[in-house]
Amino acid sequence: ARYDGRIVVLEREPAVAEHASRRNTGVVHQPFYLHPRDQRLFARAARVSYGLWLKYAREKGLPAKEVGTYEVALADKDVDVLEKYVGYAAENGMAANEVELLDGREMGRREPNIACVGAFLSKTDTAVDFHAFTDALRKDAEALGVTFLTGSSVSRIDVKENDVDVALDGGKPPLQTRYLIGCAGGDAVDIAHEMGVGLEYTDLHFRGEYWVVDERVANLVGRNVYSVPRHPDLPFLDPHWVVRWNGRREIGPNAVPVAGSHAYDSLARQVLPWIAKFYEPPIENKLRLLLSPDFLALTATEMWSSVSKGEMMRRVQRFVPALRKEHLVGPGIAGIRTPVINRKGAIIKEAIEVPGPHSYHILNYNSPGATGSPAFAAYLVDRLAARGDLGHLKRNPKPQNVWDWDTVAKGMGLGT
Ligand SMILES: Cc1cc2nc3c(=O)[nH]c(=O)nc-3n(C[C@H](O)[C@H](O)[C@H](O)COP(=O)(O)OP(=O)(O)OC[C@H]3O[C@@H](n4cnc5c(N)ncnc54)[C@H](O)[C@@H]3O)c2cc1C
Repeated sequence: ARYDGRIVVLEREPAVAEHASRRNTGVVHQPFYLHPRDQRLFARAARVSYGLWLKYAREKGLPAKEVGTYEVALADKDVDVLEKYVGYAAENGMAANEVELLDGREMGRREPNIACVGAFLSKTDTAVDFHAFTDALRKDAEALGVTFLTGSSVSRIDVKENDVDVALDGGKPPLQTRYLIGCAGGDAVDIAHEMGVGLEYTDLHFRGEYWVVDERVANLVGRNVYSVPRHPDLPFLDPHWVVRWNGRREIGPNAVPVAGSHAYDSLARQVLPWIAKFYEPPIENKLRLLLSPDFLALTATEMWSSVSKGEMMRRVQRFVPALRKEHLVGPGIAGIRTPVINRKGAIIKEAIEVPGPHSYHILNYNSPGATGSPAFAAYLVDRLAARGDLGHLKRNPKPQNVWDWDTVAKGMGLGT
C-alpha cells in the first residue's frame, strides 16, 4: 500500500496460513507479560496491533470475542511475577482499567473452578480466527496489486550481482527478483542459510498439541487461564485452558520436539528424523542447549504429554482441578513453533532480523507473532526503506480502508 512495484508472495501451500498462523491458540494478546525493554518490539507490535485487529474484525465482519485471560500463580513465589506484570502492562501502554491483580480469596469468590494463590487478569485479550484474518488480508493485498503464487515451494536461491534467482519445486519455472524478504515461519532459518546468512543460528521444532474439552463442562471457566511459566526461558512449555472464538474450550499446547516445520504426524515416526534434525549445523548451539540441566527432563515430560492424554490433563488440572480425562473428547489442531538457538545454546525471545544479499530475513517470529503481525509488517517496511532497500520501488502511499499508516507509525515510533 506504500509502494508501487511487482510484489509477489511465494507460498508453498495451496492457501495462505496453513501453518503457525492458523494452528495457534487464537488469542490476540495484550502485552502484559512481555518485558518492556528486552521484548520491546514484540510488546509494542502487540499493543498497536491489538487495536488494528479489533477494527479489522469489526469492519470485515470477522469473529472476535473478548474473553480475557487469567495468568494464575500456583505458588507464593509466582505472585511476584504477577506484580511485575502490573508494571509491564502500564509500560507497554495498557490502560489501568484493562488489568486487575486478584488475590487467592477474590479468585475463589469469582472463579470457584480455578485453584491458585492469585491471578493477574488481562480483561481485553480477545479470541479470534487468525486463519480468517489472514485470508481476508490476502484479498486486500490482491486488491492492491500483490500477486500470490501459492503452491510455490522455494527449493534453491542463487544470489547474482543485481538480483536473486529463486528455484521452485515441482518443475515450476524459476523466478528472478531484485529483493527478497524471507519470512518463512518454521523454515525461515533454512531460507537464510540457503542465502549464506544467519549461519550462527540454528532452530528446533516443537509441536504444540491441544485437546478439545467436552462442551458440557465449558462453563468451568469462561476466560483463558495461563499459569505463570515454570521456566521463564521456555515460556511455551505450560499448557493453558483456552477459550476459542466460537466458544469451544481446549487445553494446550504442550511442546513436543519434532523433526520438521510441518511434522504433524504421530510421535513414533519422528524419532529418526529428529536425530537428523539435531545434527544439522551449527550443531554446537544445540549441544550447549542440551547441557542445560532442565532441557532433557523437560523434553521428556513434553513427549510423555503427547503420548498420554492423562499427563496433559494433569498439567491443566493443577489450576482447573475439576477437569477429568473423560472431559477431553478429541485432539485439537496442532501447531509447530520453531525457536531459534544462538551460539550460547540459548533460546532467543525476540524476532531476529538478518540482512542478506538483496534480501532481509525474519527469523524466530514466534508468539505473540500472530497478534503483532500488522504493526510488525509496518515496522519492517519502515526499516527496509531506511536501509535504502526499497529504492527500486516507486513510493506511492495509498489511502487505506481499515488501517491507517500514520496511526500505526506513531504507535510503533517509526520514522516515515
Ligand atoms: C502452538 C502455537 C500457539 C500460538 N499461539 C499464539 C496466539 O495465541 N497468539 C499469537 O499472537 N501468536 C501465537 N502463536 C505464534 C504465531 O502463530 C506465529 O508467531 C505466527 O503465526 C508466525 O507467522 P509466520 O508467517 O512467521 O509463520 P507461518 O504462519 O508458519 O507461515 C510461514 C509460511 O511460509 C511458508 N513456507 C515455508 N517454507 C517455504 C518455502 N520453502 N517456499 C515457500 N513457502 C514456504 C509456509 O508454507 C507457511 O505458510 C502461536 C504459535 C504456535 C505454534
